[in-house]
Amino acid sequence: MPWRPAQVSIDDLPSLGGGVFLTDSHCHLDIGSFEEDCADVIERAHRAGVARMITIGASGPFEANLEAIDIAERNPSISATVGIHPHEAATVTDELLQRIEKLADNPRVVGIGETGLDYYYDNSPRPEQREAFRRFLDLAKRMDLPVSIHLRNADADAAEIVADEGLGSAGGVIHCFSSDADAARTFLDLGLHLSFSGIVTFKTAEPLREAARIVPSDRLLVETDSPFLAPIPYRGKRNEPALVAHTAAVLAEVRGESIDALAAQTTENTIRLFRLNAG
Ligand SMILES: [Zn+2]
Ligand SMILES: [Zn+2]
Repeated sequence: MPWRPAQVSIDDLPSLGGGVFLTDSHCHLDIGSFEEDCADVIERAHRAGVARMITIGASGPFEANLEAIDIAERNPSISATVGIHPHEAATVTDELLQRIEKLADNPRVVGIGETGLDYYYDNSPRPEQREAFRRFLDLAKRMDLPVSIHLRNADADAAEIVADEGLGSAGGVIHCFSSDADAARTFLDLGLHLSFSGIVTFKTAEPLREAARIVPSDRLLVETDSPFLAPIPYRGKRNEPALVAHTAAVLAEVRGESIDALAAQTTENTIRLFRLNAG
């Protein structure tokens, strides 16, 4: 898929106070043609106050994990996760899990995922998605790493599996949370964090904004899911980490907080959950 970069001007982004930083808790810098302008994208993120990013290894087949780790090894402000996306769940074998487990030992790897259930695309059969999800939850527990969970149209099954398997003490996050307040309560009760993406800026997303209002401050994260899901006013263009500022601005407004308070809190939460270097 050809990705056209958005014409991002730092001057048009919501600005942060001095010493306040945002963290993009979920992006895919190994796809989206970022290899063509990666340095510019990272530079724009830093200038927009996005001091840290977590690039997700599970962008495609197993090899995507190697690219994510490579990006994290070359950029001190970027950490990586490793896993296999629910779209690829049918490819998960014992051998593949062992290879992921080995990668998870890398000091630049801070989490497992994304894993989970996607009943919208159904790219892998549902029983295989559920089985892979269970196995990655187990791996996260054994490795004592937080888990990044992808969910689409599968809240009930996911809640049942998380309740059944249990989260490790490292916990986890529903990334790109896009359900309503009831679902938010269910996942919060299970001990999960909720991460909000550009979807929260979309006109039709009122139920999601309702959900955003009830998340306790210490369980809230923000993300871009770059290159997907660019927030308004960049909807339809390639997303990039700098644009998490728009999502943060809308979330802050919805929650009746300042963007600085929201940025500082979500950064603190992401640092704590993924045990990032706080320096
Ligand atoms: Zn996802
Ligand atoms: Zn993702």
